[in-house]
This record gives sequence, structure tokens and C-alpha cells, in this order.
Amino acid sequence: MISPEIEQAINDQINQEMTAAYSYLAMAAHFETINLSGFAHWMHQQRLEELDHAMRLFNYLIDRGGDIKLQAIENPHKKYSSILDVFKTALEMEIANTTSINQLYKLATEISDYATQSHLKWFIDEQVEEEKSMEDVIALLELTGDDKSALLTLNQQMGARQDQSAAPAAE
Ligand code: MG
Repeated sequence: MISPEIEQAINDQINQEMTAAYSYLAMAAHFETINLSGFAHWMHQQRLEELDHAMRLFNYLIDRGGDIKLQAIENPHKKYSSILDVFKTALEMEIANTTSINQLYKLATEISDYATQSHLKWFIDEQVEEEKSMEDVIALLELTGDDKSALLTLNQQMGARQDQSAAPAAE
């Protein structure tokens, strides 16, 4: 049986992953609006990854006999001033998510919930990748500067991103 504190924290983390998915959906919409379909595709792939993260936690909580308590998902109302601003926002979101996963791991350690610690190890590794992928795009955008043809090349590269999530593709 899972402890009530861990059950609550996992439900909160499910919400955080769904909120991230919703934010990436908003970012995909933003890129569709400015006709950067490669960037939009990349954001849709990112959205699928976040849904996969939420489902991994959802299934884990079910397996441990916990109750799923779904919460409201916040409106990602932010307006973006530039392409760089989108990815800086995404990086901030991933850093906040890393902190949240670390807090959950800390809680699991404090109450000697070894199964939850083990399950969270995948997420800790994944967050390293998530932060790195945002930092890589930010570095490429900074190199691109005001060069429109370099931006269009990057847009094409972003459009080639493969689905790395285990969640079924929704499109
Ligand atoms: Mg995630």
C-alpha cells in the first residue's frame, strides 16, 4: 500500500506533466501561427513525451493501489516575444519539473518508499535529457541570430524529430 503523502505527490506530478503537455501544445499552436511547421512538429513530439510521462506515473500509482485524483490544468496563456523566448520558457518549465521530480524522490527517500525511488530514477535521467534538448535548441537559435535562411534550415531539422515516447501517437 502506498502512503497518502506519496499518493498526493504523484497525483501532483501527473498534473505537472499534463500541464507541461498543455504548454507544449500552446507552443505548437504558436509555431503553426507563424508558419514554422518544423518547430510545431517538434513541440507536438515534446507534448507526446509529456503525456507519456504522465501515463507512466498514472500506471505506477494504479499498480501500487493508489487513487488517481485528476486536477485542473492551468491555462498556458503566455505570449511569446520571439522563438528564443519560447525555448527559454520551455527550459524554465523543465528546470521547475526537475525540481519537482527531485522533491518527490526526496519524499520517497525520507519515508523509505524504495519502489517509488526506483520508479523515479527513470524520470531523473529523463530530466537531464529534457533540459539538454532545450539548451541545444537555444544554442542553435542564438547561432542563427537574424539569419532567416539558417532559421528555415533549422525549421526543417526540427521537423525531422522522431517520436521517442511510448505513448500512442494522437495524430
Ligand atoms: Mg516530463
